[in-house]
Amino acid sequence: MSKWGNRANKCPMHKIKMKPSKTRYGVRFDCPVDGCTMARWDRSKTSAADLETRKMRQEAHKAIDVFWRTARERKRLYEELSDFMGIPIEWTHIGFFDIKKCKKAIAFAKWKNQKILNKQGQGTIKS
Ligand SMILES: [Zn+2]
Repeated sequence: MSKWGNRANKCPMHKIKMKPSKTRYGVRFDCPVDGCTMARWDRSKTSAADLETRKMRQEAHKAIDVFWRTARERKRLYEELSDFMGIPIEWTHIGFFDIKKCKKAIAFAKWKNQKILNKQGQGTIKS
């Protein structure tokens, strides 16, 4: 049993056990109900989500991941994101986010981008 226990492997909508399947990205759990898009990865830092939410999580990752390269940068970025979103650091994982939180994370990325652009602009004026 994973540290999430059996409960976490249930579809949040249908409350039935999701079926594991091996993919090249790792084990993925899918709801067996026809038309249900709930799925989650066998990783500790993700929760089950429908297709729309998973798409938004991908968007959020794309927006956020450009700001870090090292583990240290990643840690600092997520601390900043945690502050920005007003959620505890242990819940600041895109894998836990719903659509609303993903949008907020994307807004954070835009805000950070703007900050970087402003800095660059100032640099140009000075030189
Ligand atoms: Zn389902």
